[in-house]
Amino acid sequence: MAPTITGWILAGGRGTRMGSVDKGLQPLGDTTMAGHVLARLAPQVDAIAINANRNLARYQAIAGPGVAVVADHLGGYEGPLAGLQTGLLYCAAQGGAQADNALLLTAPCDSPFLPSDLAARLHAALVEHDADLALAVTLETDPQAPGAESRRQRHPVFSLLRASLLPQLEQYLATGARRMEGWFQSLRVAEVLFDDAAAFRNINTLEELQRHAPAAAATDIATATATATATGSDNDPLSVDQALRLIAARVAPVVQTETVALRDALDRVLAADIISPINVPAYDNSAMDGYALRGADLPQSDGVPVTLTVAGIAYAGRAHAGTVEPGQCVRIMTGAAMPAGCDSVLPQELAVAIGQDSVTIAAGSIAPGANRRLAGEDLALGGVALAAGKLLRPADLGLVASLGIAEVTVRRRLRVAFFSTGDELRALGQPLDDGCVYDSNRYTLFGMLARLGCEVIDLGIVRDDPAALEAALRTACNGADAIITSGGVSEGAADYTRDIMALLGDVAFWKLAMRPGRPLAFGKVRDGGASAWLFGLPGNPVAVMVSFYLFARPALLRMMGTTAAAAHPPLLRARAAAAMRKRPGRTEYQRGIVAPGPDGAPQVRLTGAQGSGILSSMTTANCIVVLAHDQGNVAAGDLVDILPFEGLI
Ligand code: AMP
Ligand code: MG
Repeated sequence: MAPTITGWILAGGRGTRMGSVDKGLQPLGDTTMAGHVLARLAPQVDAIAINANRNLARYQAIAGPGVAVVADHLGGYEGPLAGLQTGLLYCAAQGGAQADNALLLTAPCDSPFLPSDLAARLHAALVEHDADLALAVTLETDPQAPGAESRRQRHPVFSLLRASLLPQLEQYLATGARRMEGWFQSLRVAEVLFDDAAAFRNINTLEELQRHAPAAAATDIATATATATATGSDNDPLSVDQALRLIAARVAPVVQTETVALRDALDRVLAADIISPINVPAYDNSAMDGYALRGADLPQSDGVPVTLTVAGIAYAGRAHAGTVEPGQCVRIMTGAAMPAGCDSVLPQELAVAIGQDSVTIAAGSIAPGANRRLAGEDLALGGVALAAGKLLRPADLGLVASLGIAEVTVRRRLRVAFFSTGDELRALGQPLDDGCVYDSNRYTLFGMLARLGCEVIDLGIVRDDPAALEAALRTACNGADAIITSGGVSEGAADYTRDIMALLGDVAFWKLAMRPGRPLAFGKVRDGGASAWLFGLPGNPVAVMVSFYLFARPALLRMMGTTAAAAHPPLLRARAAAAMRKRPGRTEYQRGIVAPGPDGAPQVRLTGAQGSGILSSMTTANCIVVLAHDQGNVAAGDLVDILPFEGLI
């Protein structure tokens, strides 16, 4: 049975460092700190509640109906551990027969930037390590000593724990102890390393609050309302970045994971960190074919060559037994273990003379310690070899194999349903009636989704008919995490598309400042208890691909559990081979062919006609030329941004 995760916002502190104000109620952006945390945590969990010890009515107003606000069972501001106890009691009260499977996810009310994959990553680690509790860890560098090694900082208030721990916690509290870390010592704790330390920033003083207010507004803690109200209009369309932010703030990674054989993990997303169980390499070894020797035996500064006696041979997989004495060396092959006593390797081509049993070395030929690979220099025992969120590529499979690990835990595949809309569409195999076109979008979408490793559910062609559209969306909700449709969202499209989508959930219809791909619908549709994210893409064949790459792909990658970096490939620069027309005030995505220019540096030319219906421009192209929002016409020789197709998918 799937676990139920209850989000538990810790807002019951005294706020001493803020002058005893109620921290969670402090205004930040267009809501309060607790409001931000609520908006970020709610999409990640099955249920949510706020733990507060005063101003309960005001917290209830933030939480809205149906969200509980619960005061500490202990009373007297006993600290976060008392809040935790109250949370576990709350789970027990809610869970009934399912309490065994219940989990509590805590987050403090003063951490408005908490990661959108907090629940998913902590849960994956909890399962992977069969732990009682999973907590977040970041690497912190000392701002006073920027070059110094970073240290692991645990964040006990960002914990996912089993509700069944209540009796243990009550015993611990009965001893009078109140420290979270103190109690954690008696538990099996899994640590999860998050690479974005800033996401765990908490706001402790009123001055900090003021400083962060603009950032909080900019990151737009997008609730459904925010998404739906930001529609864009003809005069003031939504920018590509605004739309990307609104989408990113809402989607969260799928929670379920599976353990698969290493080869089956190709192109899947790692669900928990892979910790190296060994040093790689496991022993010091030679990087060259040559002679292993003691660095102290190398020629001195007087420049007189040295001759060493060859005491044996070391092969890869067959070490030289015994210690090498001063004045001796060992013939050694690449990858062979360094013989005891030796710390340097002279490559054989640097020897000045090789006798029957001796080697002569000139002064200055190598430095002490040269050509030795140190145990653990590739991967150190206990270190994070691959971090959760990594999309596994061939090199990653090799790396995992080098650790002797045969199975890995990955997130489950996304299920994505898709269909085309339009009365004019004909399926392959049907005659092409007058005024009709073959449905090509379902094939491009199939290809793009398959490349992402999604399980695809092809719902065919849906007529421009309200009942058919509603039926298709309801079916899709029940089987899929996301739904991709094409057509019917543009101006002039039958109005019922909006009505139906609005009827089934909260879907925003945006006008975007981009070309191609001006219209886009995004939101959540529901049928009974089932729900799925909807990406309503425009119908034109090029617009479908561009909007998919820009908006659906990064969101799907987030849902697959990848890190934000993986979802957005970097733009590269190339020189324009010819002038390009561009209107400021919208981002344009033109189809380009990039190749080395006369000087060898990348040069890009357009594929010709750029109409959004001309699919052949996509097949001839090998990149998209991205002409930024504010940019005007491009002159031949100017540098432009490009997004190469290879690596995009
Ligand atoms: P729409 O967004 O529904 O107004 O469609 C815009 C244009 O894209 C129209 O010319 C449609 O015929 C075309 N179109 C829509 N869906 C498809 C499809 N699945 N395959 C090919 N062309 C399509
Ligand atoms: Mg249509």
